This record gives sequence, structure tokens and C-alpha cells, in this order.
Amino acid sequence: MKHLALVTASCWWMLAAVSSTAAQSPNLVLIFTDDQGYQDIGCFGSPKIKTPHLDRMAAEGRRFTNFYSAAPVCSASRAALLTGSYCDRVGVTGVFFPNRRRQGLNPKEETVAEILRTAGYATACVGKWHLGDEPEFLPTRQGFDSYYGIPYSNDMRIRRNGKSGPPLMRNEEIIEHPAVQSTLTRRYTAEAVKFIESNRQRPFFLYLPHTMPHVPLFATDEFRGKSARGLYGDVIEEIDWSVGQILETLKKLGLDKRTLVVFTSDNGPWLTKKQNGGSALPLRDGKFTTYEGGMRVPCIMRWPSTVPAGTACEEVAATIDVLPTFAALAGARRKAEHKIDGRSIVPLLKGVSGAKSPHNAYFYRMGAVRSGQWKLMLGGRSTVKAQPAGPFPALYDLASDIAETTNVAAEHPEIVARLTRLIEDHRADIRQNKRPVGQAPAPEKPAASGPRVLLLGDSISMGYTRPVRDLLAGEAQVFRASAVNKRNQRRPENCAGTDKGIQQIDRWLRADGGKWDVIHFNFGLHDLKRVHPETGKNSNDPNHPHQTPPSEYRKQLTEIVRKLKKTGAKLIFATTTPYPDGVKPRRDVADAARYNAVARDIMKERDIPINDLHGFALPRLAKIQKPKNVHFSRAGSKALAKQVVRHIRAALKNARRGQ
Ligand code: MG
Repeated sequence: MKHLALVTASCWWMLAAVSSTAAQSPNLVLIFTDDQGYQDIGCFGSPKIKTPHLDRMAAEGRRFTNFYSAAPVCSASRAALLTGSYCDRVGVTGVFFPNRRRQGLNPKEETVAEILRTAGYATACVGKWHLGDEPEFLPTRQGFDSYYGIPYSNDMRIRRNGKSGPPLMRNEEIIEHPAVQSTLTRRYTAEAVKFIESNRQRPFFLYLPHTMPHVPLFATDEFRGKSARGLYGDVIEEIDWSVGQILETLKKLGLDKRTLVVFTSDNGPWLTKKQNGGSALPLRDGKFTTYEGGMRVPCIMRWPSTVPAGTACEEVAATIDVLPTFAALAGARRKAEHKIDGRSIVPLLKGVSGAKSPHNAYFYRMGAVRSGQWKLMLGGRSTVKAQPAGPFPALYDLASDIAETTNVAAEHPEIVARLTRLIEDHRADIRQNKRPVGQAPAPEKPAASGPRVLLLGDSISMGYTRPVRDLLAGEAQVFRASAVNKRNQRRPENCAGTDKGIQQIDRWLRADGGKWDVIHFNFGLHDLKRVHPETGKNSNDPNHPHQTPPSEYRKQLTEIVRKLKKTGAKLIFATTTPYPDGVKPRRDVADAARYNAVARDIMKERDIPINDLHGFALPRLAKIQKPKNVHFSRAGSKALAKQVVRHIRAALKNARRGQ
């Protein structure tokens, strides 16, 4: 019995040891807002925005008043947050756009989510990602078990099924497009609460980067129109409600004392949006700048029993410290051997007396540094007209001049020299130890095959070339007359009038390997415009001659058609499109029909089908043409393209039948 009792006791001891390890792994919740200014929380001094939940969070936790994001814009700030490295070190210095360069945070980077997941944490990202939207860059490939949110800024759009807007994704699938933004904050909150509830038994990391208050602003009816600070205030007050829901959930589940909640923003307020942007007061400037308002952000940390309640930390700390701090709290180790810039701020978080900032120098991108009370800027920009940037170098004493009003560089040359050296060393270090941005490969183009179609024509035909190509994708290869420019790039070419046509037709027919199955062509719009009789330049004078008089047009078009016929391709002639009265250079409204009649004669004699774009466009002109212009709107070009494609398809069908 005695022996058994001993075993039981040792089992208890082991169990206690295991549970104490679990107790040492706190849950980590990181709430990250977008473009929220330093002042935009009640306890950070907002005069009008009411944030009772954030204020309570601060009363139960610690405010960080010298807390910095790593960049004054979204993607760069987030790359630094998740990697614990300055954004310049990880090659993410600006903002990613969908469908542009196919870049994102390099998947080789080790994110805080990857570190925590390896340590046994459940991980979720709910909200705005903005570190690349190609599949290899999504949160699910960067350490998060799940993702729900808009993968970039809410003012960025993609086109899908004829609609435009940002998509809402779950994991790697688009589940709503365009995303309904008015209920986003509420839906993010529901997702976050669900994640906490379903992981209450194990340590978890919840990353909740809100889409708001980035412009355009949206709030539910419950909050809209309620704040004294307008829509921006409504949006912050709804985010505050969301924080309340999360704190409430932690309390209800008994996780309060096992959970660190961090609240901060990705960069300063978008001041040029005026009422729709926030405020960084008393700090100078805002988003896009390395003045304090661009990168010093409000920050609150709450962890009852560990973070001292109702205190403030004035030491310099930053979002790059999140990764090493969270790793330390989780007892997790980094695997990657590359250099990071963040340091654990556990002593600051716990309020250890005498604890100091781990940053002797904190860098605002590559052009400014803070060391203690001193900030040196070697360059920078402003978004506030009344307070232009510079002159540089600018030295500010942040201890006595938080608003960066007075450049004291001249009084302290030795401090300017010391801080300049810090910046130079930092630049050299980044140059030597920087890692590349993630680059997704270009999409593979399907091998070119199918019948070959050549489009020749004026700028109207240049407008419909792309939609024609899209509509015939997979069915036929569509080429258009093109020329090589000075930079050796091939560019679509305007075939203009029949005089240019006569000169260039052989080159156009030979280009891209020649051998055409169908040639769709048109000439007329340039021939019938007025030109100065002596200079030959475009003219608005009705007494001046046509560029090509009708008789000459007949001769030249006949010659072009003769050459086209020789190719053996199926030919289609498109009539000259109509235009409103009063266009410049002058074109008489009746001339389009007059020249088309000449062309019709030629085509009829040679059995060439006519694609009557003039007849199609005339009754719809007000709807599909640009005002006072010969050109068509995008929708107009698409409408013309459909007509063109109908004729090309008929010609291809005839070609297959050998007719
Ligand atoms: Mg932002």
C-alpha cells in the first residue's frame, strides 16, 4: 500500500507538473486595427469617441504610450509584426495589390503563428491579411490553422462574374464577393469568439486584424450614426464593442487569467481622409509618414494577475517585439537562424521595476531613428499641408516636444552625429542581411493553338481587341497589327487610314508568323477626317479637304483588299463606326455612311462579308460612346466585341467547312 501511495503521489506530482506547464503557456490574443490613430481611444485622449471596453481593458491592464508599428503603411507593418523583423529586412516596404506583381511575405519567413503552432498552439487569423493573396502567401500557408477575412485592404477590388469589390475568404476559398462590409466587424467578432470557445482546452493564438477603420468605413445599423465623431467614431465604437465581446468570452470560459490580450494599430491615421480618418494628436502627422503620428500607435496589454492593472509603460516597445515576446511566454523556440530585430518585452509587460526598453535605437524605416528621448530624421514626408516636412536633418527631443515642433539639430551636433551613425549602421546591416520578398511565378499561359485571327483597324478596333481576345480564348488565337517601340516592346498599332494601310499592309500580314485563317479589318475613320491642305495636319475647318477623298479611298481600299485576298484568309470588313456631331478633328456626321457605301461596293464585288458596326452602334450611340468623342466606353467596346466575335465565329465555321 505504502508503495502504491508513493506511486500515486508521484503521479500527482507529474500531473501537477504537466498542468503547471500548461498554465505557463498563456493564450495569446492580438487585436490589430487598421489606420487607427494614437488618440482614437478614450484612454488615449479621444475627446469624442467612446471606448468603454478598451478603457476597462486599460484599467485592468497596461497602456504602452511609446509603442511603435514598424512602418506607416499596411503590408510593411504587418510583415514586421508577424516576423519580428524590420519591414526592410524582409523585403516588404510598401503595400501589396491584388493582381499586380504577385508578391507577398516570403513563405520562407518564420511567422509568430508558425512558432506558436509548433509549440502546440491552435492558431487562427480573422480579418485583414494583406501579405499577399496568391495561394502560397495566404495565412493558411503562414502558420494559421484557419483564416476568415478580406485578404487585403477594403478599398482594393477584384473583378469576378461581372462584379467588382474585395472578396471575403474562408481559408483559401472566396465565400462572398463583393464582401458585405457593413457587418464585417460583427462577423469577425463571431468568428473570433467561436475560435476561443472551441479551443478553450488548449493554448491558442488568435490574430484578429480588423479591416476597419481603413477607409471606406462601414458599421452595422446598431452603431451607425451614433458616435459624436461621425462614421469614423461609429466604426471605432463597434470595434470597442468587439473587444468587449472577446473579454467577456474569456471571462465566461474562465480563461481571463490565462490569456494575454494585446490591442494595437498597424499605423497612424489617414489624415487626408479628413472626417473619415482618425487623429494622432498630440503627435505630428499620420499614415505614410515617419513622424510620430505615422508610426506611434495606441497599445494596451491585459493579462489579469500578470500584467499590473491600471499602469502605463513609457518605454519604447514595438510590434516587432510581439514575436519574441509571444515565443518567450509560450516557451517556444524559433527554428529559423536568420536575424530578427524584435526583443522580448516580457519584463515591461509584467511591470518589473526598473525594466528598460530593449531598443537602444528604434528605426523608423531607413531614414529616422529614436534613441531614448532623441529622434533624428534624415528625411521624410508630410501629409499635412500646413506643416511641410523638413528641413533635414531634424532632431527632436520627444521628452519635451512630443509634437515634433522644434528642430534642435543645430544645438546638438554631437547627438545628430551619434544618431546619424546609428542610421548608417542600420542601413549597412539591412543591406547585408536582408531577405527577399515572396514572388509567385507568373501564371502559365496555355500553349497557343487554334485558328489564327488577325485584327486590322483604327483605334475603335484597338478598343475591342482585348474583349475579342477574351471572348475567343481557347477557341482561336487573336493577333492585332502591332509595332515595336523604342524600348523594344511590341505594342498594338493603330492602322489609321488607307494611305498608311497601303504602306504597312505587307508588314502587318507578315508579323507574328503570318498565315491567317481569318482577317477582320476596317478603314475609314481616318480617311474621312479633315486635314489642312498645306500642312496635312488635322483640321476642324469644314472647308478643308478629307484626308482621303472618297475616290482615292476607293482606290486605296481596293488595293489593300487585293493584298488581303492573296493571303487566302477568310476576310471580314467592319464598317466605320458613327460619331456625334462636333468631334475634333472635324468629321462630318454623314461621311461615315458615305465612305461605308464605297466600302460596301468593293466588298460586295469580292464577296467579302460585312460586319456592320455602324448599323449596330448608331441607335445605341448615346449609351456606348464616350461624350463628344469617336471612341467608345469600356462597355461600348465590349458590346462591339460581341458583334465582331459573332462574325469571326461564322467565318471560322465556314473555314472548317471549306467554304
Ligand atoms: Mg493601415
